[in-house]
Amino acid sequence: MAIATINPANGEVVKAFDAMSPEQIDRSLARAVDGFAALRATSFAQRGEWMVAAASILDEQRDDLAAMMTTEMGKTLAAARAEVAKCAAACRFYAEHAEAFLAAEPADAAAVKARRAYTIYQPLGPVLAVMPWNFPLWQAMRFAAPALMAGNVGLLKHASNVPQTALFMADLFARAGFPDGAFQTLLIGSDLVERVLSDRRVRAATLTGSEAAGRAVASVAGRELKKTVLELGGSDPFVVMPSADIARAAEVATTARCQNNGQSCIAAKRFIVHADVYDEFTEAFTERMAALRVGDPMESTTDIGPLALEQGRADVEEQVGDAASRGARVLCGGTRLDRPGWWYPPTVVADLTPDMRMWSEEVFGPAAGLFKVGSYEEAVALANDSDFGLGSNAWTTDPAEQDRFVTDLDAGMVFVNGMTTSYPELPFGGVKNSGYGRELSGHGIREFCNAKTVWVG
Ligand code: NDP
Repeated sequence: MAIATINPANGEVVKAFDAMSPEQIDRSLARAVDGFAALRATSFAQRGEWMVAAASILDEQRDDLAAMMTTEMGKTLAAARAEVAKCAAACRFYAEHAEAFLAAEPADAAAVKARRAYTIYQPLGPVLAVMPWNFPLWQAMRFAAPALMAGNVGLLKHASNVPQTALFMADLFARAGFPDGAFQTLLIGSDLVERVLSDRRVRAATLTGSEAAGRAVASVAGRELKKTVLELGGSDPFVVMPSADIARAAEVATTARCQNNGQSCIAAKRFIVHADVYDEFTEAFTERMAALRVGDPMESTTDIGPLALEQGRADVEEQVGDAASRGARVLCGGTRLDRPGWWYPPTVVADLTPDMRMWSEEVFGPAAGLFKVGSYEEAVALANDSDFGLGSNAWTTDPAEQDRFVTDLDAGMVFVNGMTTSYPELPFGGVKNSGYGRELSGHGIREFCNAKTVWVG
């Protein structure tokens, strides 16, 4: 894929970039090594000051940054502004909490025949971050803020369609005061990831993206024996039980499916509804989906902008077309909009069967699949009948049933009576083909640390 900003609202190339040469990459890796030596010698207080400065820059430039993201990948301007604010909050969160998350942990010294015994957390070194375009600032920030606070340095290989956001990230941390080489952007295509990850100066990698990209990076990392964190795709279930507040569930379901124009790994994608409330939920949900306003993402009245990539739109179109051709019912949407750019409307598809692609594949656009079930057991079995296991949602006001869902749903995250979302305070990640490792919270900052055992006799 060319490294370029192409406005998905009209398909026009806004700005194209050359990929870095092997010599430029080599210089960046050398700078990363020097940057690590400088950064690891600094205190939490110093890094925290720089991180808070980064947050202030984000606040000051919020509107310009938001417009840049909307131009690069089509999310609504309102959503882009919220993303910038969320990034600033994450910077402040890690500035405040990193030291406590990484504090030395005492052990029972007498039990191990030591005078002192404890664990300390030390940074690993340069970490390669391969990131996707869907939340171009947030995805990169939720790696960068904890990594830098821990004393690691970052090498960002961002998705090829968000190069301006990628360049901004490196500029941000330099302006905030971090040492030279502490955070760099590598403008490279995915073909050069193996070369960078194989370099002995790079100590670990994190990837957020598709299953295929995760497998590619994990196999190189496996060969090179380097630690990885993988945040991959999802096909999150959204289970609605008879005791649920159906109107509220339908409202949240619409947001959960369509936020970010339907392109979120933790979007609810499979709506599994108990037969007792199936008709009521279906009617309310379809009505809300059909009422969303599709249009210019720069306009404040718009709910849904274009999909980010032409191929992404083609994929959704084919998945819905496949279901329809095999007998599924399309309750709203289902046909691309006839205008330049990569437009696809909010779509609801009912009567899915296992032979249809929408049954098992992730749908990365605003198309929802509806499933009717007759019992709790059937709901959980269907929810777990997926290769993915990222987030999950259950709607029920019965406390015993809530506890059963929390225990039984096979996913990295479970949200009861709410939609899956990410918070700096809570770990984020999946099981099965949705990846491994965690981002955010104390778990996230420790992923790229050496938990060093200390025994003093
Ligand atoms: P991709 O996997 O195609 O791209 C993500 C990143 O990986 C990009 O930087 C891309 O570079 C790079 N990449 C792609 N192929 C390879 C490869 N073989 N080796 C090394 N790097 C590679 O995903 P999309 O951008 O299309 O995003 C959609 C997918 O990502 C969905 O499945 C979605 O669920 C998942 N995702 C998961 C998230 C999570 O937190 N779990 C969050 C967001 C998305 P380039 O752009 O140059 O191809």
